[in-house]
Amino acid sequence: MTKALNEFLESNLKELKDNGLYNEINVVEGANGAEITIDGRKMINLSSNNYLGLATNETLKQAAKSAVDSHGVGAGAVRTINGTLDLHVELEETLAKFKGTEAAIAYQSGFNCNMAAISAVMNKHDAILSDELNHASIIDGCRLSKAKIIRVKHSDMDDLRQKAKEAVESGQYNKVMYITDGVFSMDGDVAKLPEIVEIAEEFGLITYVDDAHGSGVMGKGAGTVKHFGLQDKIDFQIGTLSKAIGVVGGYVAGSQQLIDWLKVASRPFLFSTSLAPGDTKAITEAVQMLMDSTELHDKLWENGDYLKEGLKSLGFDIGHSETPITPCIIGDEKTTQQFSKRLMEEGVYAKSIVFPTVPKGTGRVRNMPTAAHTKEMLDEALKVYEKVGKELGVLS
Ligand code: PMP
Repeated sequence: MTKALNEFLESNLKELKDNGLYNEINVVEGANGAEITIDGRKMINLSSNNYLGLATNETLKQAAKSAVDSHGVGAGAVRTINGTLDLHVELEETLAKFKGTEAAIAYQSGFNCNMAAISAVMNKHDAILSDELNHASIIDGCRLSKAKIIRVKHSDMDDLRQKAKEAVESGQYNKVMYITDGVFSMDGDVAKLPEIVEIAEEFGLITYVDDAHGSGVMGKGAGTVKHFGLQDKIDFQIGTLSKAIGVVGGYVAGSQQLIDWLKVASRPFLFSTSLAPGDTKAITEAVQMLMDSTELHDKLWENGDYLKEGLKSLGFDIGHSETPITPCIIGDEKTTQQFSKRLMEEGVYAKSIVFPTVPKGTGRVRNMPTAAHTKEMLDEALKVYEKVGKELGVLS
């Protein structure tokens, strides 16, 4: 290894490790379901985004297998050469129906979808107003576009109005966009879309909602935009196909014209091989399933409410989540990390989230109940929470 690279890696890794910020990655042995096995130990899994339990769904597994039989394991090329399969077209038509838009385009991940969509439309003559808690892929997409980035205080409508006014009235920018997550994954709170749309209409802002954590969860499964009935008011409905949908990939749903543009101007579409056939068919099947029935969605909320109620009555601070995402706020970073470690030793896998991902002193263990959890699993998790809470002095 060259000396310069070695020095860079050594000093940076050391700094992370010295500050307790080096993330040791656990290996899951087998499927990622309501229970998982790590180091040979089975645990209740409260850490996945597999909100509806679809990652291990039998119908989807069969759909993927049959597509592998008929289409093979890979798409063979980028979309514009000959990597657009009939399966991709079917998926995009299904996604548009699901989101209530004219058209949709699929990408290989939610992350590259944000990189693709923002930079295909915004440029150095534009400005992007971005909620300060937006996901990393939005931040990177904004940077890639070279537009002026203006951070807006989290879900603060006065700040948004003020900054939108300043940006538009400055006359410096050709276009101004507002980007927000639909559901914020650290606290489980929901973007104030009706007020956002009002402000956007007043100032002519382009609206962009990344509903990675809202799809399958909000709006009876159809997402946060549909929850508020604003399908005609949001220009970009973005999402991932890896969380509630259970597979992998990302999408933009919007007007036909927008999708036509993304198909000629967004670089991951043009230069990266398309979704694999098995994944594509499984996603289509999953989206269809959500349109046909709210059963999994209803179960997710029932489990979310049960866990929240249980933690609250034990005396934990569970913040102000409006969704099944249930943070358990512990406070200082060290205790939070210790808490998560003890949960794991007792058979509950729930990750700690601490500074710098969340503000100092608001360390939390984040719980993601899913439709696949049973009441028995949740009761067991609550028992463990009570034990560890008392042991570490978080509960009196
Ligand atoms: N947007 C948001 C809001 C997310 O939370 C995530 C995933 N953590 C992504 C985008 C990226 O999605 P994917 O995992 O499909 O790349």
